[in-house]
Amino acid sequence: MCGIFGYVGNSNNAAGIVLAGLRLLEYRGYDSWGISVKRGKKLDVDKHTGKIEQAITQLPKSTLGIGHTRWATHGGVTTVNAHPHLDCTKEVAVVHNGIVENFLELKEELQRIGHHFVSETDTEVIAHLIEEYLKKEGFASSVRDAFNRLKGLSAIVVAYAPSAEIIAAKSGSPLVVGVGDNEFFVASDAVGIVKHTRRVIFMEDNDMVILGKKLKLIRLPEGKVVKPLFHTIDWEFKNVQKGKYKHFLLKEIYEQPQVVENIAINYGADTKRLSKLIEEAFGTFMLGCGTASYAAIAGTYLFSRVAKKHVNFSIGSEFAYLEDYLTPKSLLIAISQSGETIDVVAPVEKARKRGSQIAAIVNVIGSTLYRQAQHKILLGAGVEKAVVSTKSFIAMVAILILTAYTSAKRQEEAKELLMQAAGNIRVILQNAYVKRIKELAKKLVKSSHIFVIGRGLAYATALETALKLKETSYVHAEGFAGGELKHGVIALIDNETPCIVIAPNDETYDDIISNAQEIKARGGFIIGVGPKNNNVFDIFLETSDAGDATMLSQIVLAQLLAYYLALYRGIKDPDKPRNLAKSVTVK
Ligand code: GLU
Repeated sequence: MCGIFGYVGNSNNAAGIVLAGLRLLEYRGYDSWGISVKRGKKLDVDKHTGKIEQAITQLPKSTLGIGHTRWATHGGVTTVNAHPHLDCTKEVAVVHNGIVENFLELKEELQRIGHHFVSETDTEVIAHLIEEYLKKEGFASSVRDAFNRLKGLSAIVVAYAPSAEIIAAKSGSPLVVGVGDNEFFVASDAVGIVKHTRRVIFMEDNDMVILGKKLKLIRLPEGKVVKPLFHTIDWEFKNVQKGKYKHFLLKEIYEQPQVVENIAINYGADTKRLSKLIEEAFGTFMLGCGTASYAAIAGTYLFSRVAKKHVNFSIGSEFAYLEDYLTPKSLLIAISQSGETIDVVAPVEKARKRGSQIAAIVNVIGSTLYRQAQHKILLGAGVEKAVVSTKSFIAMVAILILTAYTSAKRQEEAKELLMQAAGNIRVILQNAYVKRIKELAKKLVKSSHIFVIGRGLAYATALETALKLKETSYVHAEGFAGGELKHGVIALIDNETPCIVIAPNDETYDDIISNAQEIKARGGFIIGVGPKNNNVFDIFLETSDAGDATMLSQIVLAQLLAYYLALYRGIKDPDKPRNLAKSVTVK
């Protein structure tokens, strides 16, 4: 995760430029931040814990600076652990995104030869390693040799006090170089660069770039100079505001009817192409992480039921262990909001090397996945600022519904279902309905566990409902397949345990009602969600039937429940839940 921003050029406001760049990258991690600038032959460093939003820095004027917003992997959230990290001489400063998998081994080696470590991070070894190489060679070859020794996926930017250059290298996490007039930028995402320049280089894995008076691109490990490939960013990064809403999360929940309608109206051709790829492929895998993985699970049910096609599913981080039998005829459908999720990007990269076909369903144009894939569909959900994903998930599922129906030559039917679902979402968003959701949230405020069950497509709904509750309101919630209850989970049910039962009007209805009865018989408190009421429900929240698109309004209901539960549990900023980040670029 984390955001990296570096600047070198004519402006003497490097600290200000880096700070402004980091603010735009805060979605990548927000537990602490830090900047280092060059002052004469020295480096000044300013590090803090907490969010960067309103932060200011007193760093002096400088033409060279590097900065970082952290998402801690190794070592607690402290000022000392915040980046940049320095070597013993305090002449080398490093910001880092990713994990140095062999850091313990390297740390021990460096400690043995006298290096003194101050932080608990894996990152600090990079600074000392560069220091060690600097005893024998120049800045660029020291960074090259140090970087070559790191195991794992990393992106780094390095400043060296005696040098007027900054050096960046990457082996996994994204880095973009911005090329201005006598100035260069390097960042984890082009969003912070475009206001300065639209001319960029998307660094490839094992690229190293030296930025100073000139730009030099080098291919690692050997360090051969290569010709850079320049791109012009011709898309806009919208600067969205909260408007009348208290939080981005709420605003984004309310944008969902339009997201679904947009897909119903405009995605006929895109989904036709994707369904053709699935037909032609010999084995299709859908992969995603977190929320996107639940969209992929929904996809497997949809393809089986509607298109009579088997598609495989894997969590992105597990796919690396499943992909041995991929062939050039396999199709991978990678699903991700940011298009940067390393747990999806890394296996996709491997599959690409095996010659498999890659399709990406992503929200962010220009992202790594977007660039990696031969076939791409943009979610069209617009900027999603809240860390908790809402409209992206709805868009992913809507696209998969349309694709499955298109494979079954029933595209028009799916479009109608989606339009119906958009109408049903509007009902949920009306004040009268929201009032009922708020009442339920108040009732659940003291619950320490909430269970959610569903079968078939509603199993995916149950998983996503539980995840929304967990990440937004920090309440322990678990989603289960209704049939699994009696195989273990039922032991957790006791008096008044709340259980949300997702009961669409489909072939799962009777069985999920039986599972609800089983919970009720053990004292559980049943909250029914679906088109049809039932005696077993203690509370019933109706979501009108829209066939296979019914889950869309049920998810919106879950999002609102999670949002209000968070507020009632005293969570101040549901847009930035603790410990999470919007773009997950570490393994
Ligand atoms: N592994 C490093 C740390 O824990 C970098 C984490 C990040 O990508 O923010 O500090």
